[in-house]
Amino acid sequence: MNCCKESPISERGLCKEHFSEWLENSVAQTIKEYSMINPQDRVLVAASGGKDSLTVLKILKKLGFNVTALCIDEGISNYREHTIVDLEKFCTEHDISLSIKTFEKEKGTKLETLNPTHPCTTCGVWRRDLLASGAKDFDVIATGHNLDDEAQSILMNVFKNHPMRPAPVLAANKAFTKRVKPLYFISEADIRRYAYIHDLVSVFTECPNADSTFRRTIQNFLENRERETPGAKERIVRSYALSLSS
Ligand code: SF4
Repeated sequence: MNCCKESPISERGLCKEHFSEWLENSVAQTIKEYSMINPQDRVLVAASGGKDSLTVLKILKKLGFNVTALCIDEGISNYREHTIVDLEKFCTEHDISLSIKTFEKEKGTKLETLNPTHPCTTCGVWRRDLLASGAKDFDVIATGHNLDDEAQSILMNVFKNHPMRPAPVLAANKAFTKRVKPLYFISEADIRRYAYIHDLVSVFTECPNADSTFRRTIQNFLENRERETPGAKERIVRSYALSLSS
């Protein structure tokens, strides 16, 4: 079924314009349903400059929220420098204040110079630390976690017998400002389409360390499940979200 005379760009049968409208409305609905952001909130968007964080920035700005961007530069060559270029361009064009914190300045070394055995562990701890300290003057942190990320996190927790934490909203605690995930129910494929339509990124790139992670193993597993039973990832996330409210 096509929505109008334009060519559909996704299996939803929507043209570019109606697809964008659908995605933006879905995000607005998630924000409202989970009381993620109040109109007067100062929102810090954790922005890498990849498709997810630029989509969050674009939609929150369009919805009229007071957004500022914070980028954490780990110092990973042939990766972060590309996304930072896109982020700086976007923030300049949309009049969004951007600050960049680097591992080199804040932690004394770039991640790749440190060369830890498990780079993602060090990276994760340092990123959280810098995000937490950078958000002290804000009411809420918005991140670009999407439905695929969340389905992966849920399964990773199951396989590792870890406590479940991939909720759409994480309440404020001593260490962290309230964190929200406006793209919680939006698939990576749809975000990729949205970013492409709106020319948000110059290159779709990924951290070179991502290939050797447990997350990648789970991601591959889920992609296989999705091919065999379409909608598998969404069912995992919706089922988990439902369990949070029951
Ligand atoms: Fe950091 Fe690992 Fe993510 Fe790369 S894949 S940005 S090293 S957590």
